[in-house]
Amino acid sequence: MIAANGRLKIAIQKNGRLTDDSVALLRACGLEFELSKQGLYSPAKNFELDILSLRDDDIPEYVQDGVADLGIVGENIIKEKRAHVETLIRLGYGWCRLVISVPQRGSIRSLADLRGKRIATTYPVILANFLKQQRLKAEIVELSGSVEIAPALDVADAICDLMSTGATARFNGLKPLYTVLESEAVLITSARVLRNKCKKELIDSLLIRVSGSLQAKGKRYMMMNAPVTAVPGLRKIIPSLKSPTIVPLADEGMVALHSVIAEDVFWDVMEKLKKAGASDIVVVPIETIIA
Ligand code: ATP
Ligand code: ZN
Repeated sequence: MIAANGRLKIAIQKNGRLTDDSVALLRACGLEFELSKQGLYSPAKNFELDILSLRDDDIPEYVQDGVADLGIVGENIIKEKRAHVETLIRLGYGWCRLVISVPQRGSIRSLADLRGKRIATTYPVILANFLKQQRLKAEIVELSGSVEIAPALDVADAICDLMSTGATARFNGLKPLYTVLESEAVLITSARVLRNKCKKELIDSLLIRVSGSLQAKGKRYMMMNAPVTAVPGLRKIIPSLKSPTIVPLADEGMVALHSVIAEDVFWDVMEKLKKAGASDIVVVPIETIIA
């Protein structure tokens, strides 16, 4: 039995780059909820869980302090806040890099050239650790945003900022020099929550759903008919066809092959499969894969 106050609380970003993917992930786990646009709480109707919509910067500390049992946040924020939290699973979105960039036409060409220079960042903790590790003495200029314009304003000689494509940095006349950290969104909890038997059970059942829907991401279920004699050739075309399900058809000498296939691979191999004797190829989405 779960006590009335035994519902899990999961913190997600209220409004930002991680929000859509986090909401989509929870829905893909079968959770039904209406996201409250104004409020903080959105209860799930069919699971003992409430969604808390917060600023991403607050999520690691709230999970560490037990305000929320679970959280979805970028690893960059966890490291910057030095939060004591447990990572349950990496979520495969929110990819970004924390990169030191320098003016394209400047004199800084290597990490060593940063000695004595000013580096602007919103990640002073991670940058300070990095500089210490590299035994580099440089000045950290802590800003709260718009870091990329700091060199143009002569507030700094270099920046240490998040990027995914690098387009913003290029636009501001900067080029990447060194990647300090690679980050993605992760599901976190705290050691204290894991010691709570009721909550641990709920988390385990949620985790099965999360990893199931992550496994299914980008995968399709493919069915096709083929003559038995074509099967070895078809298997060579796609590695994932190594152990397909093979079902005999009413037509003698014909079989149906079923297999899970990566969506991007499918479009590459479809023509080859047809040439190798496959017909009636059907591809359907997969909601979840429970191993
Ligand atoms: P909040 O209002 O919640 O504080 P924010 O402006 O600090 O939002 P966002 O810009 O929405 O945060 O980024 C949230 C997270 O998305 C980042 O901490 C990082 O983990 C991830 N992310 C992925 N790609 C990028 C990117 N190109 N730039 C910045 N963050 C990125
Ligand atoms: Zn933030």
